[in-house]
Amino acid sequence: MKFRFFKTLAFRLTLMYAGIFSLSSCAAFILFYYLISQTILDRIDQDLLEKAGVFETVLSVQGMTGVQNLAVLEARAAGEKKIFFRLLYPNGEVFATSHMSYWQAAGVNEEPIRKLIRNRQPVFETITMGSGGLRARILYVYAGPGVILQTGLSMETYANFFVAFKTVFAGAMAIVVFMSALSGWLISKRALSGVGKVIDTAGRITGTSLEARVPETGSRDELDQLAKTFNTMLDRIETLVTSIREMTDNIAHDLKSPITRIRGLAEITLVQGGSAEDYEFMASSAIEESDRLLDMINTMLFISRAEAGGRVSVRETIDLAELVTQACVLFQPVAEDKDILLVCNTQGPLLASVDNKMIQRAVSNVLDNALKYTGPGGRVDVSVLLNRQGRIEIQIADTGCGISPEEIPKIFNRFYRVNPSRSDKGTGLGLSLARSVFREHGGDIAVSSTPGIGSTFLLSLPNGNLPVI
Ligand code: ADP
Repeated sequence: MKFRFFKTLAFRLTLMYAGIFSLSSCAAFILFYYLISQTILDRIDQDLLEKAGVFETVLSVQGMTGVQNLAVLEARAAGEKKIFFRLLYPNGEVFATSHMSYWQAAGVNEEPIRKLIRNRQPVFETITMGSGGLRARILYVYAGPGVILQTGLSMETYANFFVAFKTVFAGAMAIVVFMSALSGWLISKRALSGVGKVIDTAGRITGTSLEARVPETGSRDELDQLAKTFNTMLDRIETLVTSIREMTDNIAHDLKSPITRIRGLAEITLVQGGSAEDYEFMASSAIEESDRLLDMINTMLFISRAEAGGRVSVRETIDLAELVTQACVLFQPVAEDKDILLVCNTQGPLLASVDNKMIQRAVSNVLDNALKYTGPGGRVDVSVLLNRQGRIEIQIADTGCGISPEEIPKIFNRFYRVNPSRSDKGTGLGLSLARSVFREHGGDIAVSSTPGIGSTFLLSLPNGNLPVI
């Protein structure tokens, strides 16, 4: 459980949020500390320079004795623990000091004196005295010709500020870390609650139930988009699963019927018949049914291969107008038998590079349907033309029973038949095959139909009227 919690996105986001917030607060504190400490140091330096200025004036007015007394008096006035004064010769020899019992550790340094002599500019240094870590700011400056003033100021205020700052810093940082972690947690929890819903829904979806959907908030944010996309995906999966289920039912049904018939006939022949004619009849019926089955299986394989692509390997330039005319000639006897007027209106040549056999088969299927679903006295019109986009359009219009709008999207599904009893001879594979073939050629089949009035199938192919090579 613990392991999973540390792996959660909410935890990682909280960590990131708290980390970034704490780091930036820390940086702000450091900057603040640097500025304040710099200001304090400047104030100390300023103090020291002001005191040195007094010594310079006194030396010029009252001479050596004046500054010697001033050193003692100034230190006493400001507090001997706080400040000291030393008067030195340029060689570092001390000739006058204030009370130095608190300042034993603050010696005379040669380096700053050398620097002062070289540059004739006041020199500052910070020293740490004794083991207590008490620090002091020291100034070396000329008080007059040949007289160097060394004065030091305790940095206790500075140290006090540092201690106070540390306490405030620790307290404030604890609050910042806690608050940023808490708000980070709340924000990420709220932001990720939508993801949680998607996960819940995905969890509720099983092989049998695909109905669950993620509630959409309508806020149009990323999570709402995710919910929408997820639901669209579920809709598509549901449609697919339903059509696969329907198709499996149809396949089972269509394969079952001929096998049941073969079995039934064999059983009857075995039980009742004994003559050679009975067995002959049984054998020829079994062959007929088996052919039907084989034809169905072959068509299924053909469609699968066409849909998998790469099936149109043998392309040849043919005249589609001619192909359609021949198909009409072939179906004329069927039309006449059914008392249907089959009118073919083609003006060629309409050239395209196609797999001749596949296109022939597809066009025949659609034409066969038109005649199959049109009653006696009806009419079937076939025409071919080249549209403005250079696509060849084969139109097959009938005055048959028509197809209802709900059925139209389904008629291209394998084994789907609107009314199985009416299309007894059909397998439900004709249109599926025809569409696969046309799509494989970069074309398509569209249908418009009105129940009771008739249907129009529009078969289109791209790149019509290629130049004859
Ligand atoms: P079938 O072998 O049953 O004809 P198809 O795949 O060719 O299978 O057609 C699928 C279904 O579409 C048919 O069962 C029929 O109900 C419907 N259909 C196809 N063409 C027409 C048409 N011209 N008029 C009315 N219904 C049609």
